[in-house]
Amino acid sequence: MIEMQDIWKTYPNGTHALKGVSVKIDRNEFVYLVGPSGAGKSTFMKLIYREEVPTKGQISVNGFNIGKLKARKIPYVRRNIGVVFQDFRLLPKLSAYENVAFALEVIEAPKKVIKKRTMEVLELVGLKNKANRDPSQLSGGEQQRVAIARAIVNNPSVIVADEPTGNLDPETSWGIMQLLDEINFRGTTIVMATHNRDIVNTMRKRVIAIEHGNIVRDQQRGEYGYEF
Ligand code: ADP
Ligand code: ADP
Repeated sequence: MIEMQDIWKTYPNGTHALKGVSVKIDRNEFVYLVGPSGAGKSTFMKLIYREEVPTKGQISVNGFNIGKLKARKIPYVRRNIGVVFQDFRLLPKLSAYENVAFALEVIEAPKKVIKKRTMEVLELVGLKNKANRDPSQLSGGEQQRVAIARAIVNNPSVIVADEPTGNLDPETSWGIMQLLDEINFRGTTIVMATHNRDIVNTMRKRVIAIEHGNIVRDQQRGEYGYEF
């Protein structure tokens, strides 16, 4: 469902972030992306959610050649991909409910549908009873749960998560991982960049290691494999 064929990404300043990456990620896989800072992990993920386009090579997501997508089709493809960041990126002036509902309002879903679906995902992430709180009234782990609820509310086929536990303490991180595992179990493909060796070595999944813009390792039920 995600396929990259000889993907190169060179930024305008001349940095070669990816140098000939080819990979296939099947429907319903859970993939950890590991590797040093600056290796190209974020770029790899930005290509999937079409924040960036490749300089060379082909990338398809759910059969759409997303490097060559017509502008009017971009919102449709993006809606099918949920994104989660290390720093949550919630809208600070909106409640947890409003942060999640917003993703449905932009696609002009009926109000009744918005309410039902928003409460459904807030319940799934364990925050139904905190729906009215602003992000500043939630712990870091709770804010990340809201961000995950927002990412899944449109029922995407893929979740891309860039160090989703990077700002959280170990215990809170495990709760977030259980949630992502549950979402994966329910049928969503997950691609997650991480520096958390405990998580990678305990919750075994496919591991793709990227160094200097190339895939240097790709193992099923792999391990973290770095000392940092
Ligand atoms: P990682 O996520 O593994 O830390 P990135 O994909 O963020 O790696 O970065 C890969 C390389 O591309 C790094 O050298 C980084 O400095 C560079 N880079 C990332 N984004 C940009 C950008 N917008 N413009 C120029 N260089 C960038
Ligand atoms: P964590 O252990 O994840 O850092 P906190 O100690 O920050 O959690 O928060 C513990 C509980 O208190 C959470 O349920 C959170 O929702 C609640 N809480 C934290 N800050 C506020 C606040 N400013 N207003 C209301 N509730 C809060």
